[in-house]
Amino acid sequence: MTDRYAVLGNPISHSKSPMIHSLFAKQTGQDLCYEAIEAPLDGFAATIERLRHGGYQGCNVTVPFKFEAYHCATELSARAKAAQAVNTLSFEGDKIIGDNTDGAGLVRDIEQNIGISLAEKNILLMGAGGASYGVVLPLLTAGAKLTIANRTASKAVELAAQFSAVTGGGYENLAELQFDVIINATSAGLTDSEVPLPEGIFAEGALAYDMMYGRETPFIKFAREQGAQVADGLGMLVEQAAEAFFIWRGVRPDTLPVITALRG
Ligand code: NDP
Repeated sequence: MTDRYAVLGNPISHSKSPMIHSLFAKQTGQDLCYEAIEAPLDGFAATIERLRHGGYQGCNVTVPFKFEAYHCATELSARAKAAQAVNTLSFEGDKIIGDNTDGAGLVRDIEQNIGISLAEKNILLMGAGGASYGVVLPLLTAGAKLTIANRTASKAVELAAQFSAVTGGGYENLAELQFDVIINATSAGLTDSEVPLPEGIFAEGALAYDMMYGRETPFIKFAREQGAQVADGLGMLVEQAAEAFFIWRGVRPDTLPVITALRG
């Protein structure tokens, strides 16, 4: 029988996840269907119950439900606990197992696809919202030395304080510093706001990674002008999906053809 999965969000019509998972299924010969479901804003838990009792094996969760999914889960992975958010649920009998694959997706995109090892690298993470919470533990596990900066400095301090040897604060603390990788996990790319980074912040050969995709953000423009190598978040999107696919199916799809298909 065909296994069933879904992505839950609101809104959800823009989601690329059904296309990504159907390409994975085709490539690996897995018999599954994957659909996008718009859960009502006040009806996430009820939608999860409907899926569980309707024969679904699991689901992905996106904005604005990742925090609710964290609370719905009866078991959590270490990375979901660190993220305080869940993007992947597996339904196993009475259990609802919550995981967060965003950080693993980011690390895999940078290390495997772009080809930069994060071990011992000085990394600046911009932002202290949901996306940043999702990636700190996987970045540290990859051996990165991490600094977090946020417009509201107190939020960066609060996030950094949950880990040892992570510094957090406002952008004003960054003068005179240089980083090997700067990751933009803010939603500032949706606007044309000024990039709050000083000139010269990129070390020689540095990578500028914007989690946003689909448009050239002011951060990416600034990074290009500063001579950095640049990358958008499309690879992360595909890699976090591949990690979820692996959790559910025990098979790791080849992501590069899928990234290429999406860019096309
Ligand atoms: P949140 O709303 O939780 O956090 C937004 C963050 O952006 C906050 O730290 C906020 O700072 C900061 N911010 C917003 N506007 C500005 C600005 N004008 N200048 C400086 N900082 C600003 O969003 P998420 O963390 O959920 O998402 C962040 C981005 O990451 C989004 O673009 C999202 O699409 C992307 N993303 C991509 C993924 C992928 O797979 N590629 C996965 C997950 C997220 P403050 O606290 O001061 O308000």
